[in-house]
Amino acid sequence: MVLKLYNSLTKKKEDFKSIQPNLVRMYNCGPTVYSYAHIGNFRAYIFADLLRRYLEFKGYQVKQVMNITDVGHLTGDSDEGEDKLEKASKLEKKSPQEIAQFYTDAFLKDSQTLNIQEPFARPKATEYMQEMIQLIQVLQEKGYAYESNNNVYFNIEKFPEYGKLSGNNLENLNKNRVEKDPNKRNQADFVLWFANSKYKNHLQKWDSPWGIGYPGWHAECSVMAAKLLSDAFKNNKFKPELFETIDIHTGGIDNKFPHHECELAQTESATGKPFANFWLHNAHLHLKDGKMSKSEGKIITVSDLIKEGYSSNAIRYTLLSTHYRQSLVFDKTVLEASQKSIDRIKETLQKLESMREQKEYNENLASKINAMLLEFEKSMDDDLNISGALGTVFEAIKEINKTLDLIGQEQSQEILNSFNNLNKVLGLSLNQSQEIPQEIYLLLEKRKEARENKDWKTSDLIRDELKAKGYEVKDNKEGQTIQSIS
Ligand SMILES: [Zn+2]
Repeated sequence: MVLKLYNSLTKKKEDFKSIQPNLVRMYNCGPTVYSYAHIGNFRAYIFADLLRRYLEFKGYQVKQVMNITDVGHLTGDSDEGEDKLEKASKLEKKSPQEIAQFYTDAFLKDSQTLNIQEPFARPKATEYMQEMIQLIQVLQEKGYAYESNNNVYFNIEKFPEYGKLSGNNLENLNKNRVEKDPNKRNQADFVLWFANSKYKNHLQKWDSPWGIGYPGWHAECSVMAAKLLSDAFKNNKFKPELFETIDIHTGGIDNKFPHHECELAQTESATGKPFANFWLHNAHLHLKDGKMSKSEGKIITVSDLIKEGYSSNAIRYTLLSTHYRQSLVFDKTVLEASQKSIDRIKETLQKLESMREQKEYNENLASKINAMLLEFEKSMDDDLNISGALGTVFEAIKEINKTLDLIGQEQSQEILNSFNNLNKVLGLSLNQSQEIPQEIYLLLEKRKEARENKDWKTSDLIRDELKAKGYEVKDNKEGQTIQSIS
């Protein structure tokens, strides 16, 4: 069966085919670490995770890169405003590096809570400065970039395909621009390097051929994708001719413009090759009274919800169960409904697990379960139609519950194996011992706080308490990890 994905570039569902056989090279735009990632942000990361898991289910090996933006992302999302990290660093009176570290840790912890698989790489923008400079140099040499009053700009007139992803053309872009930058030839041109920003006291700065400054936001994703997913930076020297088109590039719908449109323009101008064959965008998460946004102070994080007693399963299920291209209206009743759905699955699986009797193999049930597995795959093949796929799961649950007294140990094991296989795609913690109870989670939080205050006595006491409750805690440089002893 062939997987079809909706490609934002062609605006239609297309058969997915990887460039190299059995290997998918995928780039996901990751968080800007100036504040907590909220559950709306996490919708994009859960979508990327679901996509990766499903590609793996289909037999592909997935090389996945998700970046961490720690410089260059301005408050205006384009070339206007202050760098988000710089702004947070002034507000919180910490260095931009401390801000980035703190919110990266929080992001990774929440990712782990949601059972998001670790990508092949999580590159940080600040660690790719030389590569960004090299990209800008190539763009300048090839005539796509110009220097003006010490800043470097991408000249979108030189790239007539600009707008092919988002549908924004030069004309309407120039019309809608509010703030005028006198250094730009076209108001729709975008910044590649800021050596002359109006924010003079910028803390994160690097030397460059155009003066001390910092890169525009979009440069990072172009170079990190090129370096980590192709050979274009062999021996740390940018060789545009060695760039290989990647299979999939994803991000939230708000990344489509300007971020992805500009990434695409840079990469394709520098290399002469398509950046990615498939561009996939997930829709927003809304609250009943509007969009969840940091600028309006209305955010809910994964940790907030866990502290309120919601399970990581319920949060993951909620973010996963609406089709990625549909808006998700979030409120607590959705979480509660998700929890009920998960409980229904778990209850049935537990009954199957406790089955000890030997009974005759029920061919009829086996063929029904097999047909449902195929239905699950058929739904997911249709641009990850998760509602259809989950519908199949619940039909199977109903069928199993109806015929429970006919199922013996051998067959229940077979059904459990099928569910485990499906669950590799869903990534829920269906086994009782896999999920960390809230009580344990709160103890871990308390221990973390004690360790930050160098209160080793309390830290040790909590460790012993956790042990008594059946959990072993280990400390490493990323923080604490926990394992069930049973
Ligand atoms: Zn990006």
